[in-house]
Amino acid sequence: MLAVKYHGPKNLEYVDIPKPEVLPGTALVKIKYCGICGTDVHAYSIPGIFDWELVLGHESVGIVEAVGAGVDNVKVGDRVAVGPPGDCGKCYACNTGHPNVCANAFPETLGIGPNTQGAYAEYVLSRHPQNELFVIPDRVEFEQAVLFDVIGVGFHAVRRSELKVGDNAVVTGCGSVGLSAIQAAKLAGARNVIAFDLNETRREMALQAGADYAFDSTSEEDVAKAREILSHEGGAHVCFEAAGHPTSTTLCEQLCMAGGQVLIIGSDARPYELVSAALGPRELDFKLSFTYTKEEIYMLFQLIASGKWKTDVYTIEKAPLKEAIAKMEQLSSGELDVARVLLMPEA
Ligand SMILES: [Zn+2]
Ligand SMILES: [Zn+2]
Repeated sequence: MLAVKYHGPKNLEYVDIPKPEVLPGTALVKIKYCGICGTDVHAYSIPGIFDWELVLGHESVGIVEAVGAGVDNVKVGDRVAVGPPGDCGKCYACNTGHPNVCANAFPETLGIGPNTQGAYAEYVLSRHPQNELFVIPDRVEFEQAVLFDVIGVGFHAVRRSELKVGDNAVVTGCGSVGLSAIQAAKLAGARNVIAFDLNETRREMALQAGADYAFDSTSEEDVAKAREILSHEGGAHVCFEAAGHPTSTTLCEQLCMAGGQVLIIGSDARPYELVSAALGPRELDFKLSFTYTKEEIYMLFQLIASGKWKTDVYTIEKAPLKEAIAKMEQLSSGELDVARVLLMPEA
């Protein structure tokens, strides 16, 4: 079967590998769509993300084609999402309600861990169906369900924050994670959600996702307008950093009210200077957020099924799996700017 192997930055290869064999306790899924995640694009563009070989693809949907003995959470013909978190279910974090920070998840996650075979392929073999396969409700289309990774990260961040009904929120960075944080903050009852992005198209998307205002983060005038909107409390209750850039974290810090919270979702390798003498007197609460949980994937599927979560705000482009390398190059160079490219092994 066709698959796309990652050897290192700028080094992807189309390979012909054997279709996986179904063993007891495993399930074989025929892939319908697999998203090209921002993490994949980073790993393709810069060194240090994945220092190992693997077949990429950690956010996919498809149909269960075969199940091994002992598998009872899915059956042949089920429409499923395949994805992280590949938590172990055994460690302290897993057993105390925090599976998204499982210490063992990273190497086990299909399409992320060393030598794993992810879903840039015609088929994927789930060795832990209980942990990796999520049955998609009838009213949710494959094209919607495959966005679970896009949506889950922002959704989890808002659930992890202390945002309450009536609060004001700021979201810096209106890529797919930011758009999800905007939607989740509105669902959670935020009075005003003020979005920031450099890019005008993304600002328009932020408004479609439910933001009350969308401003240019490089415009002093726009930042002043945000301050004016937030002037009653002296800042926002919660500022969500979704751009993965130090200047975006600084903007969050500046627009946060005293005693408010800065929730960092974006990840970035550059150090961030935290000056306690400047921030201490305002008692800012910095918190980080990482991925999402299985429970949240099911919640999202229910929200999509009931029409409460908009999926049409995420721009998608479909492409045959055999164009994966060309699409990756376009995403890496910035020539293509969409929330997700969906690879289709069947096309
Ligand atoms: Zn991802
Ligand atoms: Zn664990």
